[in-house]
Amino acid sequence: MPRENLQTRKARAQRIMAGLRAAYPDAHCELDFSNQLELLMATILSAQCNDRQVNIVTASLFKRYGSAADYAAAPLAELEIAIRRIGLYRNKAKNIKAACQALVEKHGGEVPRTMEELTALSGVGRKTANVVLGNAFGLSAGVVVDTHVARLSRRLGLSAQTAPGKIEKDLQALAPRKDWTQLSHWLIWHGRRRCFARGPECARCEIKADCPAGQKVLDPKLTPEQQKKMRARV
Ligand code: SF4
Repeated sequence: MPRENLQTRKARAQRIMAGLRAAYPDAHCELDFSNQLELLMATILSAQCNDRQVNIVTASLFKRYGSAADYAAAPLAELEIAIRRIGLYRNKAKNIKAACQALVEKHGGEVPRTMEELTALSGVGRKTANVVLGNAFGLSAGVVVDTHVARLSRRLGLSAQTAPGKIEKDLQALAPRKDWTQLSHWLIWHGRRRCFARGPECARCEIKADCPAGQKVLDPKLTPEQQKKMRARV
């Protein structure tokens, strides 16, 4: 793929987004939630854990604890048992309790709607705050950068950075603000369904024409064996 300036990269990013929009018209947050508090709790639990597992645990968790005050008042050991099927459950139980105590003490039991207030809560970093702001409040505050978004940003040549904050800035510069939340969903869905960490399905990929990594994998000069090796390297 030829060298790009910001303008040509933006145009390519637009084509990538159009391709992903067409491939995943229904892309959305795959964590189950019915209000802002539930999404905040589910997102804290989802760190280094898949959404399916989180949804299994939150199905009973949300029936038991309906408000921030409920979590804040729960004994830590009880919370630990309630989420023990999730990785890092001890830490997460501590964070949930502390975050909910802060919600009760400083925010009247409600989830705040600013990046600053959210990231001041225990266990809440920029990624979690972006998930909550974008999906529970409909606010385009940033781009969620998880492992899929980081991997795809690199393969697609949208960011050469490795730090999530820097990747997010690169993506924000390429996509209109109104699309930031959806861009995360498109990349996450593509990462889960096509552009796997190991063995991306480049030949079947909907956006391969605009993907530098895909172009390397599908180079017609390579033998099938060489293509296979290249797939393992991108
Ligand atoms: S062409 Fe391959 S590497 Fe590029 S986005 Fe598609 S699956 Fe991922």
